[in-house]
Amino acid sequence: MNLGVSSCLLGTQCRYDGGHAHNDYVGEELGRYFNLISFCPEAIVFGTPRDTMRLVEDKEGAICVEFSKTHQDITTTLYDISQKEALRVGNESLCGFVFKSKSPTCGIERVKVYQKDSAYSEKKGVGLFAQAVRERYPYLPIEEEGRLHDPWLRENFIMQIFAYQDWFDFLQTQPKMGDLVEFHTRYKYLIYAKSHNRYKELGTIVANHEKRPLSEMLELYKHGFLEAIAIKGNKGKTYNILQHIFGYFSKAITTGEKEELLLAINEYKEGIIPLITVIKMFNLYIKRFEIGVSSQTKIFAPLSP
Ligand code: SF4
Repeated sequence: MNLGVSSCLLGTQCRYDGGHAHNDYVGEELGRYFNLISFCPEAIVFGTPRDTMRLVEDKEGAICVEFSKTHQDITTTLYDISQKEALRVGNESLCGFVFKSKSPTCGIERVKVYQKDSAYSEKKGVGLFAQAVRERYPYLPIEEEGRLHDPWLRENFIMQIFAYQDWFDFLQTQPKMGDLVEFHTRYKYLIYAKSHNRYKELGTIVANHEKRPLSEMLELYKHGFLEAIAIKGNKGKTYNILQHIFGYFSKAITTGEKEELLLAINEYKEGIIPLITVIKMFNLYIKRFEIGVSSQTKIFAPLSP
């Protein structure tokens, strides 16, 4: 699976000062599971090293980009290369993208925007490349490296990536109506944990009381599904789902194992351990007892070892 990454996060010396912003989690951890494809729009057009640049808002509220020292307006150049590189994102069949935070090119949120001819700034901007990618591929899973230090955001991102890829792999199989029902069944817990409303909406699409043709159903389901998996959900809903699934095999395990698992579920809820730890414990029992929680049930599979 191909994951796009801002080049400097991989240790490439492409920052304005010839340095890098190597990130261990992205380079080493994600690098073990994904084929990392690097992007650096700034280095392509301005070379390295280069003057620092910043987002600037004029009196009419228009946002442009300029070199910090000379104030040369470089909006068009950076916009054009960002659009070109965004096209490459599509050509590389990415399943997600990790952007460098705070950058006027790569930041996905809270990038500093300066007032014209002033040192005053507000964290309200979006980098030009990140914006181009988001506009072209609104459902592509994206995150910034800093947010991936948060276990909850990280788990949501990884789940989203695998579910996103799974949907497009599923479409390649030229699915029939029954295949869509099966796909939905596999994801029902994951969707439910993210949004009860989305769960109901997608269930209604699959039930197809309107007798829509398959192509129309797939299109409708696609939008709802890709929006659902982008929702971060919350711990409370995930906790409820874990308890529900625990019920499937609570009778098959010993009292001690039951206590251990319930303790893990509660520790997850309290933020003491990450979701992945609970999922790994569940997977051990599912494998050991070949319990009827389908091993394909996607609250497990995206994070399965
Ligand atoms: S933040 Fe983006 S544009 Fe800036 S150096 Fe890193 S990859 Fe290049």
